[in-house]
Formats: sequence, C-alpha cells, structure tokens
Amino acid sequence: MKITENQQKLLRRLPGVDQILEQFTARSSVADIPQPVIVNCIRAILEILRNRILTSDPALSDESLSDTRILEMAATAVKKSMAPNLKRLINATGVVVHTNLGRSLLPAAAVENIVAVAGHYSNLEYDLAAGKRGSRYSAVEDILCEISGAQAGMVVNNNAGAVLLCLETLAKNKNVIVSRGELVEIGGSFRIPDVMAKSGAVLKEVGTTNRTHLTDYENAVDGDSALLLKVHRSNYSIVGFTAEVSLKELVELGTRRAVPVMEDLGSGTFIDLSKYGLVKEPTVQESVAAGTDVVTFSGDKLLGGPQAGLIVGKKSLVAQIKHNPLTRALRSDKLTLAALEATLRLYRDEQKAVNTLPTLRMLTADRSTIEKRATALIEGLVKVGGSRLQVDVVALGSKAGGGALPLLELPSSCLKIQAENFSANMLEKTMRENAPPIIGRIEDDAFVIDPRTLLDDDLPVIQAAFERLLSRMAP
Ligand SMILES: *Cc1c(COP(=O)(O)O)cnc(C)c1O
Repeated sequence: MKITENQQKLLRRLPGVDQILEQFTARSSVADIPQPVIVNCIRAILEILRNRILTSDPALSDESLSDTRILEMAATAVKKSMAPNLKRLINATGVVVHTNLGRSLLPAAAVENIVAVAGHYSNLEYDLAAGKRGSRYSAVEDILCEISGAQAGMVVNNNAGAVLLCLETLAKNKNVIVSRGELVEIGGSFRIPDVMAKSGAVLKEVGTTNRTHLTDYENAVDGDSALLLKVHRSNYSIVGFTAEVSLKELVELGTRRAVPVMEDLGSGTFIDLSKYGLVKEPTVQESVAAGTDVVTFSGDKLLGGPQAGLIVGKKSLVAQIKHNPLTRALRSDKLTLAALEATLRLYRDEQKAVNTLPTLRMLTADRSTIEKRATALIEGLVKVGGSRLQVDVVALGSKAGGGALPLLELPSSCLKIQAENFSANMLEKTMRENAPPIIGRIEDDAFVIDPRTLLDDDLPVIQAAFERLLSRMAP
C-alpha cells in the first residue's frame, strides 16, 4: 500500500509515546497506576490513530491528533484497564436467579464467613478435636444432613459436576434408565445424554416425550441396570396429555428390583415455595423422605447460596461417591464451603431463611414491597428528570430464572422509562455502560426497570445515572 503525502504529514504529527507519557504523568494523579499500564495504553491509542491515518478514516480531524485529545483517550483507556473485568452491577431485569448476572446473591452471613475464612487460616482439613488431619467436607455435611434428613452428604463444584460424579461412580459401563420426557438440556451445554456419555454410563431411554409409565421402567430393568434416574425438567414443562411416574413409585420399583434411584433436582429447594405464593417445587427433604438413594441439586439457584453441587443420600452410596478420585477434580474451595455452611445454617429457621436469603426474599416479595420501591425510584427520577423523563408504572411479570419455575410469572410493578431524545435502545446501552452497569430490559419500545431484583442501595445509583444522562444531553 502506498502512503500518500498527506498521510505522511499526518503520521509525522503523531506524538511519540514518551511525549504523551510525560504529559500524562505530569497532569494526572497516577501514583497508583503501574507505568507499563500507562505506556501500553498510550501505545494502543497511537496505534489506533496510525491505523486511522493509513486507512484515510474520513472522521479523523486535526483535533483527533491533538495532544489534548490523545491524553483524554489515554486516560479513558487507563481507567478501563485498571478497573476489574468482573464487577458488580445492578440487576433491573426482574429475573431473580439470572444465570448471566451471577445467579444468587449471598446472604450477609455467608459474605461474613467468606471474609473471615479468606483472610485467615481455617480448619479446612483439620480436625480440631483430634488435633490431626480432617475432612474438607465435614463442616457442611452435618448441616446438610440435618436439614435434608439424609444419612450422608457431600459437596462439589456445581450440580453438573455432582451429576457427572454420581453417574461415574454408580453407573460407569452400566445402564441408567431415564424417561424420554426428562432428557433435558439446561443451557450452557449441560445435556443429560451428553453428561451421561461423558460419565461412561449408558443411557437407556424409556417411555415417550409426554408419557412414561411405570411399566416402561419395569420392562427396562435387567442385570445391567445401575440406576433409575429422575431428572427435574427445569426450564421447560410438558402440558396436556401427560403421564409421569412419581418418585415414590420409582423408589418402590428400585427397591423391588435392587436398583438404586437417583434424582437430579436441578434447582433444589428446602422450602415448600407454594406456602409463599409460588408454585410447588419438589423439595430436597421430600426426595430424601421418599427413599431416593442419591439426590443432587445446585447451591446457587433456588437455594440462594454459592455455586455448588450438593449430593445427599444413603450412606453407603455417598461413601462410594466420596472415594471416587474425580472428587478431587470437582472439589469445592474453602470460600464456597464458608458461604455454603453459613447459607445452610439459615435454613434451620424457615422464616429466617425466607427473610434473609436475597433469592428467596426477592422471589417472595409481595406487590406492596415492590410498589414501594417503584414509588421511591419514581420520586428520585422525577427529581432529576422533570418533564424530560417519562416514567410510567406498568404491571409486568418477573421471572424466577435459573431454569427454575419456568412457567411462573411473578406479578411486578415495573417502571417504563422514556427519556427525551433517547431511543429505548440508546437508553438501554447508556445504562449498561454506566458504572456500575444497570441491566434492564426493553418492552414495547421502552426501557423497563423491574424493582423486584433491586437492592435498596441501587436506587440512588440509578437516579444518579439518569441525572448524568440528562446533564450530558442538556440543551
Ligand atoms: C441447573 C441444572 C443442572 C446444572 O446445575 P449447575 O449447578 O448449574 O451446574 C443440572 N441439572 C438440572 C436439572 C438443572 O436444572
């Protein structure tokens, strides 16, 4: 490519890295910023400008090449580079267990326990009573058994890991019988047939998509059967002409034919949520009480704790699972265990759990609580926006998320916000680029905030974001 005379002239005008660096360090408070970070950012900016010159970018003006402008761009780049990539944000989507936004928020007790264990040594694998090596899992196992009523329990990295580990331990090279109506894909490439294949277990499908009968399972049981598996359908449901075999019937069959029964509960909850106006989900205690040999579920879906895969069940089977060398590859770290133990302890008092676990508090929030928050937010927005913001309260539904309660629409009072001179898409993008980002949704060509998933201290942050937005577009 031939460089034109004009391009050469512009290239010569580009300052050197050192020249910008000197000005940068002279004018900004840069004491905490490592010099290589600044140098890299300046280099990157100059490289971008060089490319714009070489491609004869028509938008390139004299001003774009000024030291002032380059310094500004460098400052923005440095600021971005110094900020962590993983950061807090505001979930205004109304999806409580939002898998993209970190699923469950931890209760204060769990956060406190993480801080205590993270910054100090702990008895992670030390038996304080005996003064010798102990088990990493004993702290959580006791409370897990107490709440679930199971004989034994253990914890791994996540529920996908728990399912894999249980299948690998109990059914490798043998058959696992599953209803065709439960061969689900959860998202994030967790598919029951694929996990089964990875574990070395052989999938034996029975029944049909909409109807599976006890005789289907019964006819499939033979000498190669290792497990009868029941899988929670999570993010979809089958309605209409349907039939499925209850856990109780499956356990009776398993007992009769000496084949253990495993249930992947997916979301997993210890509380009958129908008492709080939600739909009935099978609880962990019910699954254990029905005589299921092994039950697996997530720690960070409806349970409202940290990411974890919980396994509870009969002592002999859990003991086998604990001895599988794969547990080392799937093991939970101490921060998770600290958070999980604190979370599980809250379940000793159901009312306390519902009030203090953010996931449960948000799911069970009543209309008046949400309306109060909506009103407070409107007042704040009217204060900063006046007539330039149009805010309406609309009755829209929130979602549980996390593959739980897929058909449930929780009634909510959402804010539909329109700003003068801003399309819904521009508003959504501006809020998404806020610090901290505010993630809402678009409905009927308006930006929508659902107060259900907001925390009290999110309100002033949202108000400030709109204030900045309006000051930038001030006439
Ligand atoms: C969510 C889910 C999983 C995976 O759990 P993670 O904790 O996300 O690994 C497995 N099975 C079912 C039925 C689920 O709903």
